[in-house]
Amino acid sequence: MLSFPIRTLAQGAVQVEGDLAPDDPVWLEGDSRPVQGVRVTGRLSGAGSGRYYFSGALSGVALGECRRCLAPVELPVRSDLHAIFAEASDENAEEPDVLPLGEGGMTVDLRPAVREQWVLESAVLPLCRPDCLGFCPTCGADRNAGPCACTRS
Ligand SMILES: [Zn+2]
Ligand SMILES: [Zn+2]
Repeated sequence: MLSFPIRTLAQGAVQVEGDLAPDDPVWLEGDSRPVQGVRVTGRLSGAGSGRYYFSGALSGVALGECRRCLAPVELPVRSDLHAIFAEASDENAEEPDVLPLGEGGMTVDLRPAVREQWVLESAVLPLCRPDCLGFCPTCGADRNAGPCACTRS
């Protein structure tokens, strides 16, 4: 579970341990989605005057394409995640780093923050292997399969 009613946070910090599923509605078209889900762990606490602070980490496996030969590659993603949430009436709610509360200010929903960080981290273009030869710029052959005609001539 990655959404917390603020009244449960009024009683103190909560330990967060949840997963953001690959089919969660928070994902947008074009996002690189996790193979199974994004594991989220950390601590969510009140930061005073209607603000909440999450400090933790996310991890998962993204499916990407080798930047040289376009072969599918599983890319492990691991990142710290820190987010600040504030009521919409908060004078600083317009700050880029501050996220709004969900459901009319009743919940802290970590999912948009997790999605954003995931998309950022998984945008790194991987290599299928460190010595991938990629395509020949001249004839377009996959040089991992062997030398192409251009190399031989
Ligand atoms: Zn490759
Ligand atoms: Zn070639």
